[in-house]
Amino acid sequence: MNKDQLHICEQLAMDLVNTDKVMLFTGEGISPLGKDSVNMLLSDPDAIDYLKEIPPIYLKIKELYDMRIINKVITQNIDNLHLRSGIPNGDLITIHGNYNVFLCDKCDIEYTDLDWDFTELQLGENKNLLCECGGYIKSTIIDFGKPFDADKMHIANNIAFEAEICLVIGSDLNEYPSSNFPRIVGLRKKSLILINSDETSLDFITNIKLDLDAIEVLSFIIDAIRNNN
Ligand SMILES: [Zn+2]
Repeated sequence: MNKDQLHICEQLAMDLVNTDKVMLFTGEGISPLGKDSVNMLLSDPDAIDYLKEIPPIYLKIKELYDMRIINKVITQNIDNLHLRSGIPNGDLITIHGNYNVFLCDKCDIEYTDLDWDFTELQLGENKNLLCECGGYIKSTIIDFGKPFDADKMHIANNIAFEAEICLVIGSDLNEYPSSNFPRIVGLRKKSLILINSDETSLDFITNIKLDLDAIEVLSFIIDAIRNNN
C-alpha cells in the first residue's frame, strides 16, 4: 500500500464508522466458482469441493458485518458462502440465487441442504421434488433467460437508494441488472468505492478505485477502526 492508498483507506475507515448505511456488493472475483459459476456447478463434479472451505475474504466481510461496519450485502454469487460465513438472510440479497437454496413455487417455503430430507419429500409426475403443500421445489439459481426475483430486486433497490456508501469487491459491474444497484448509489452522488484493478462499467461515477488486494484493504480498515476505539 503506497502513501496515497494508505491515506484513502484511513479516510474510508472513518467514513464507514460514521454511517450505518453501508452496502457491500460482491461478485465472481471473490467466489471459488469464478465467472461462469452456474456452468461450473453443472459441469464440474469437483465444483462442490471448491466450496468446502470458506475463503478468507468472506470471513473478513463477516468480521466487518459483526462490527456493524457493513450493514447489507448484495451479491451476484450463487456459492452460498456469505450465508455460510454467517451473514443472515435478512441482510443478504442473492441476486442470482443460491445453489443450495430451493424454493417451493406454491407456498414460498425455502429448503436448504440442512432440511433436505429425501425420505420426507416425494417426487411429482415430472420427477420434480414436491413440497408438503403440493407445490414443486425449484432451484433459486437465476439461469440465462430466467426472470429475476421481483422481491429481491425491490429490496436491493431500496438498499441502494438508502446507502451512503457502496463498497464493491470482485465485480467488474458488467452484468445487468445486478450492476444497477451500485450504479444507483453512484448516480445519487453517494460514495461508490471499488476494490478492483480492472476497468468497470461504473468507473465514470466511482469516487475511489483501489488497485489493491481486498483482504489487505478490509484488514487495514478493521485494524484502523479497532485502534481508534
Ligand atoms: Zn410448498
